[in-house]
Amino acid sequence: MMGGTADIELIDKKGKRLDGRKADEMRPVTIEAGVLKRANGSAYLEWGGNKVLAGVFGPREAIPRHSQDATKAIVNFRYNMAPFSVDDRKRPGPDRRSSEIGKVAAEAFANVIVLEQFPRASVDIVVEILEAAAGTRCAAITAASVALADAGIPMKGMVASCAAGKAGGKVVLDLAQKEDNFGEADVPLAMNMTTGEVVLLQMDGDLSPKEFETALDYAMKGCKDIYEIQKKALLTRYQRVIEGEA
Ligand code: UDP
Repeated sequence: MMGGTADIELIDKKGKRLDGRKADEMRPVTIEAGVLKRANGSAYLEWGGNKVLAGVFGPREAIPRHSQDATKAIVNFRYNMAPFSVDDRKRPGPDRRSSEIGKVAAEAFANVIVLEQFPRASVDIVVEILEAAAGTRCAAITAASVALADAGIPMKGMVASCAAGKAGGKVVLDLAQKEDNFGEADVPLAMNMTTGEVVLLQMDGDLSPKEFETALDYAMKGCKDIYEIQKKALLTRYQRVIEGEA
């Protein structure tokens, strides 16, 4: 959510950001795959101050039955922000923002999951935001992608997601909380890393065409770095399986 201007210097004279990052630097990201026993696939992700848990259930018979598609599986994505995940307690339950994020994320994954293999089924993705610090939709999509791979769901590629935007008059990668609150623009991106297809692109705020190009360039590089971390998480997970620990 872009909050408009404030008397806060988001970029110092040396070009450094509030948390000391350079313009094209991402916050630290860690991912662990296979953390929930009862889910078909799962992942836990930390990204800066974000803490996110993703679980995947299915493919299983879609319920209610009228939601079934005789030719392919449907994708459900539930994004939920815990009441304690933000400074001002969030009212529990769904709202416009979480419905919107769930919808665009489900559409992103419907582009990569091989849905035709599972007629009448649903693939249910559930993401819980335990702590939020801007960029939760990218964190949610990134964690969900690892959980889908962990569930063994056939995909045309892994989806990686990262945002770029503008804060303190400068185009920056991966906005932190204050940059999101007081910055000028936020551009979340998600890509199929096998084909390079863009599966999600949104924009909040204002950018010139040139700034938008730079932001997109930063976000694409961010997705590449995220993809490497996702692959490492899956490799570690299957190393554990081979060693008989999971
Ligand atoms: N946020 C909040 N309360 C809310 C919704 C959002 O404090 O009810 C914060 C949270 O830290 C979130 C940030 O605002 O990460 C930015 O929200 P936005 O809608 O831009 O989505 P996001 O950047 O998380 O994908």
